[in-house]
Amino acid sequence: MKRLVGVALLIWCASLVVDAQGGRGAGAQPQATGKITAIRAGRLIDPETGAASANQVIVVEGETIRDVGPNVAIPPGAEVIDLSRLTVLPGFVDTHTHEAITYKEIPENNIYYYTYITDATPLRAIQAASSALQLLASGFTVVCDVGNNGMYADTALRQAIEQGWVPGPTIIPSGLIISTTGGQFTPSPEMYKLHNIVYPEYLEANSRDEIVKAVRENLLFGAKVIKICLDCKPWGYSVDDIKLFISEAGKGGAKVNAHVQTRDGAQRAIDAGLHVISHGQQISAEQHAQMAQKGIYLASTDTPFTSYRGTEQGQKRAADQLRSAWEKGVPITFSTDMDYWNEKMKNDRGEWLTRGDLTINFLLTWKAAGIPAKDVLKALTTTGYKAADVLKDQRGPIKAGFFADIVAVDGDPLQNIDAVRNVQFVMKNGEVFKRNGAITIDKLLHPGPVNGFRRR
Ligand SMILES: [Zn+2]
Repeated sequence: MKRLVGVALLIWCASLVVDAQGGRGAGAQPQATGKITAIRAGRLIDPETGAASANQVIVVEGETIRDVGPNVAIPPGAEVIDLSRLTVLPGFVDTHTHEAITYKEIPENNIYYYTYITDATPLRAIQAASSALQLLASGFTVVCDVGNNGMYADTALRQAIEQGWVPGPTIIPSGLIISTTGGQFTPSPEMYKLHNIVYPEYLEANSRDEIVKAVRENLLFGAKVIKICLDCKPWGYSVDDIKLFISEAGKGGAKVNAHVQTRDGAQRAIDAGLHVISHGQQISAEQHAQMAQKGIYLASTDTPFTSYRGTEQGQKRAADQLRSAWEKGVPITFSTDMDYWNEKMKNDRGEWLTRGDLTINFLLTWKAAGIPAKDVLKALTTTGYKAADVLKDQRGPIKAGFFADIVAVDGDPLQNIDAVRNVQFVMKNGEVFKRNGAITIDKLLHPGPVNGFRRR
């Protein structure tokens, strides 16, 4: 009996080893076998060039695009999806959001420090799954989820979607936000010393050894990007610290995205050659020029002024910053920091706005900044793929060999960017999630890890 248990344990351990090596996260190649679908696209946009071509055919085999062009033959037996009256384009990217936190007026008075006391990780994981569905319905096929996820609700969300339990965007999870002492909190000594209040919303790392350990821990638990709080406290991280984060994250195939809130912090981020600067509302025009020169992505989380959130002044400040970054040629991305809810989040008909509606509504700030529609579209797609680092996995563009992540909208977003608010069709990994404006979820919920338990 003892021997049997020993053998069973060995097999189990071996399976874990295979699992760790064969994990299908970043770097995994798409599978090109399966059913064949042909999409007739009335107009197909390439956001990279801003070009549109009429009457294209996209052939999808299994999860991937097999062929695209005006004269592509539709294979016999293929299911034909007629989008000839719509504009077809790649799925959208939010490069900075938090699906597993929703702070509220009641009970926490919009103070998210309290949300994590009231909402446990399992509840937040379920919120995250709901947020993910709502984002996919609005055309977001890639979402960078950068922390404040309790105890790894974000990496669990990614796994659940990859394995096929529930449909959703490709999640780029950060795991816990790594920060110097205190994170973004200002706890009392009692809460800090006696109740360890900072963890797990933040993973503290001060010394170089602690930085290495924290990065490895996040990677071990499924992070695909490392999120740091660069200057949340006056001590913050030095240029050398940031370089250490970058090299250590790189060993796990991850890039570094930093919360940056001061001009000084921005300079250290630029000097260290960071991948993505989040927020950065204090960045000067001169620093924007440096970011452009170094190819550092900006996720400025541009909160609009709406009936449910923000101020006119706040939107103007955000728009001015966005405009400066765009003028200097910074690779700008669409990003939101969308992580709150209140009773006013309804449309004219009194219906709740979805997390997707609320996310795409950040377009208001881009319009206020006077950024041309084709550049907004590029931020929302192409530049987002680069910042999210998904191109290496062959995800993003509508091209042969890439995963079939395809959306379609009424109207022409190159003329009027508001067209992207009206997503009629969503395909993710070759599976139709939304058609004729309605979610078709029935075939996408599964009783087990139908895509394989090794998918991470
Ligand atoms: Zn954030």
